[in-house]
Amino acid sequence: MTANYHLPENIEQAFGFMKASNGQARFIAGGTDLMVHRHQGNENSPVLIDISRLKELQRLKIENDTLTIGAGVTLHQLASQPDIASKFPLLKTAAESIASPVIRKSATVAGNLLVDNRCVYFNQSEFWRQAVGLCLKCGGAYCLATGGKKACYSVFVSDLAPAFIALGARAGILSSEGQKEVPVEQLYSSIGLEPISLPDGALITDISLPIRPAIKTWFHKLRPRKSVDFTNLTMAMCFDEEKQEVKIAVSGADMGPAVHIAPVPLNFTEVLKSLRKNCRMVDNLFYPRPYRRKMLEVYLTNGLAHLGLL
Ligand SMILES: Cc1cc2nc3c(=O)[nH]c(=O)nc-3n(C[C@H](O)[C@H](O)[C@H](O)COP(=O)(O)OP(=O)(O)OC[C@H]3O[C@@H](n4cnc5c(N)ncnc54)[C@H](O)[C@@H]3O)c2cc1C
Repeated sequence: MTANYHLPENIEQAFGFMKASNGQARFIAGGTDLMVHRHQGNENSPVLIDISRLKELQRLKIENDTLTIGAGVTLHQLASQPDIASKFPLLKTAAESIASPVIRKSATVAGNLLVDNRCVYFNQSEFWRQAVGLCLKCGGAYCLATGGKKACYSVFVSDLAPAFIALGARAGILSSEGQKEVPVEQLYSSIGLEPISLPDGALITDISLPIRPAIKTWFHKLRPRKSVDFTNLTMAMCFDEEKQEVKIAVSGADMGPAVHIAPVPLNFTEVLKSLRKNCRMVDNLFYPRPYRRKMLEVYLTNGLAHLGLL
């Protein structure tokens, strides 16, 4: 599928191209997710607006106890920033868990937050999908993972999202409705067919985080190999010692991120029950559902023990 390609020099130009496309265009940053979907025939926007050169999206700054990360900062830049490594080791670990060193040089922060949901029946070549029969997410009549006709169970797989959510990050969004800021968890619908909840043609401009000295964090990702593989379960935790509360965020387990905030001292059984309820796992990733469900409990136990909360 070919597309008209635009390379704007600033945000204003990018929006000009978006407006002129009558809703037909898609932003492309590193292209490491979008282009794979195009090659597999799962994405066919006729207009692509390349935002990888927009300087406004590439800033990283610390001001008034807030860290602001431009949407176009690459995962490599994020992981190699000394300030981030010292103040937010959780972000460094999360970024370094994604894809491979070469991919991280192009892949961006916003692109990662907006990575499309995944499923073994969806992330396949067109030939493979035609042979098996199309699933709901690519226009078929039912979900091949569950046999249901109503819901697509494709899995939310961003690894930065749980880290940002646990840290209380907010996303800056620019659209025809103006500029606004929302907690990162509000970027998601938890609907497999349309997992991203942004106004049409909206641009994520940055992610901002409060710098809090009294926090302890933990991150872990389940995958077959330590590089290249997408998550089968990612958990991030942030314990705020001042508030005496722990925020837990999970990806790789539901159609959107699962989030739980618990006061400390916490009730382990209740936290696990709530997470299990919000992690509607089915058999559609590499590891089987019973194993991933068991690992949810293992990760919760290990993370809380690491933070000194068990
Ligand atoms: C081999 C391989 C392994 C991978 N492993 C992982 C993994 O382990 N974990 C993981 O999370 N991902 C993984 N990925 C997916 C991908 O590389 C990353 O998620 C990456 O961060 C996506 O960023 P990008 O800039 O390339 O996004 P793009 O592909 O350019 O865009 C992705 C989506 O975001 C939208 N978008 C991008 N920037 C903006 C913006 N500023 N405002 C509005 N919309 C925007 C695009 O329109 C598109 O819908 C992997 C990819 C490959 C090929």
